[in-house]
Amino acid sequence: MNRAEDVGRILKVSGPLVVAEGMGTSRMYDVVKVSEKRLIGEIIGLEGKRASIQVYEDTGGIGPGEPVYPTHDPLSVELGPGLVAAIYDGIQRPLSDIAARTGSFISRGVEIPALPRERRWNFVPQVKKGQKVTVGDILGTVSETVLIEHRIMVPPDLSGEIVEIKKGMFTVEDTVAVIKDKDGKKVNLTMMQRWPVRRPRPYKRKHAPYEILSTGQRVIDTFYPLCKGGTACVPGPFGSGKTVIQHQLAKWADAEVIIYVGCGERGNEMTDVLIEFPELADPKSGEPLMKRTVLIANTSNMPVAAREASVYTGITIAEYFRDMGYSVALMADSTSRWAEAMREISGRLEEMPGEEGYPAYLSARIAEFYERAGLVECLGSDDRRGALSVIGAVSPPGGDLSDPVVQATLRVVKVFWSLEANLAYARHFPAISWLRSYSLYTPSVAESVRETLGAKFLEDSKEAMRLLQEEDELAEIVRLIGIDALSPKERLIMEAARSIREDFLHQNAFHEIDTYASLDKQAKMLSAVLRYYREARKALDAGADLDDLIELPVREKIARTRYIPEGDRERIPKIEEEVVEAISSLKRKEEVTS
Ligand code: ADP
Repeated sequence: MNRAEDVGRILKVSGPLVVAEGMGTSRMYDVVKVSEKRLIGEIIGLEGKRASIQVYEDTGGIGPGEPVYPTHDPLSVELGPGLVAAIYDGIQRPLSDIAARTGSFISRGVEIPALPRERRWNFVPQVKKGQKVTVGDILGTVSETVLIEHRIMVPPDLSGEIVEIKKGMFTVEDTVAVIKDKDGKKVNLTMMQRWPVRRPRPYKRKHAPYEILSTGQRVIDTFYPLCKGGTACVPGPFGSGKTVIQHQLAKWADAEVIIYVGCGERGNEMTDVLIEFPELADPKSGEPLMKRTVLIANTSNMPVAAREASVYTGITIAEYFRDMGYSVALMADSTSRWAEAMREISGRLEEMPGEEGYPAYLSARIAEFYERAGLVECLGSDDRRGALSVIGAVSPPGGDLSDPVVQATLRVVKVFWSLEANLAYARHFPAISWLRSYSLYTPSVAESVRETLGAKFLEDSKEAMRLLQEEDELAEIVRLIGIDALSPKERLIMEAARSIREDFLHQNAFHEIDTYASLDKQAKMLSAVLRYYREARKALDAGADLDDLIELPVREKIARTRYIPEGDRERIPKIEEEVVEAISSLKRKEEVTS
């Protein structure tokens, strides 16, 4: 309970923003409870005793003179067993629970703990009595789902000697270990930690990412790869496939834990995620995908300020799993909605607007968010590493890339997947431009890719890109003068590039098999596509007829390699051999006839 002199009074309510006086004992970013309804708010401006508070719930019916109760705590999340498979709103209130208690709409002022309090977890200790432990050391584990072993760590700012360690079934509030800290004080530890969302969780040091985060999406892995611990941005106009890509990554990216932040896109889209995700199966284990996923859902019908918080809630949970030594991937769809929330609050605070009305600190906030990604050496004495990869969708109005949110994002992320309306219009999916996108990780991942797939894949990928670029130049000539202006060799390049686009880059997210291709399958498919070009080119040099080469029936088999199941992918090199055979028999036939 608050002392009477701590309680502030509302002066003004403006949408999600409340101004209150008498808040002298609070600090910036403290959480407060607004009015007798105890709506959750956060102090985002403080001048003397006057606080500007963004309220995470609907402020309708709240007016001047009503009380504001300080909590003297920053906006924090609860971290511990119970996170995996949870569905939260922007301030980590469990959506399923809220729905159960209050119907499908969240009543205001509802307080439900983020982690279930009654549920017991089987805690298996990893340390012994008398052992010295330091921050980040793993005290024990809980098998939270079949896919995730939850590692209970010594919380930040603590080290000492284990004086008691338990084993068995406990709730997140029960003591599982007692540590005597360096001052000789005994500290009881539970399986739950709290962490303020706006402060990055600490680690020992960051390393440059080098390992590919395979996604099963061919245009991404082969041409514009992401790294474990890397950052990527997917801007694109409405309907170009941002959401589908984010879903594909959540399903197929080679990460152990997935955090999906759905931030205020149309409400029904988020509902799709909420319904679809729990039904999806993890490709590796066959278990429900939710068993390694945390969903943060903030639909556009939820208050604007909660969107602002949702990306922080998401990334803090992601960092916590990274700290356990996992490879974590966070998807945020869409960060434009987050930026718009910032703009709305900033407008109500009457701050000096920057570009397009966004606050001047927009770029700084976006940079701080992506900087929380990375490959890190975790705290703790076991030298484990964790990775946090962050992929943000941006939906600029009209798909305009000069939009301030796109520009601020591109300044910090290392991968740019450019979604293009004309590709989506032509039903080429994923509509990622193979010419305008980039990945600054291509050199970083080369070594690990060479080790697993061999140098040929890297060469093939370079050659495929070269053919696509040549196609682009030749297409210009064709547009101006017509196809007859091209030599047979040039026409073969156009054919090869078309095959790369249609047989390799095009990938249907909704086809049972085509939706995912392992790196190995990608390498085999690309090899077959390019083998046709190389052999056809030799045949052309030896005098073969271009039309005969173009019309070879075996090319249909190349086009269908995408539908070959992963388990049968050894069939692809055989098709490649059939290509070689078909072209050489064509040559023989022509030798006979000539
Ligand atoms: P955005 O989020 O950019 O508005 P969506 O992700 O909702 O766009 O995609 C719009 C539509 O495009 C989808 O409903 C789907 O029909 C189609 N689409 C996008 N990507 C793919 C894909 N990889 N495979 C098949 N269809 C796709």
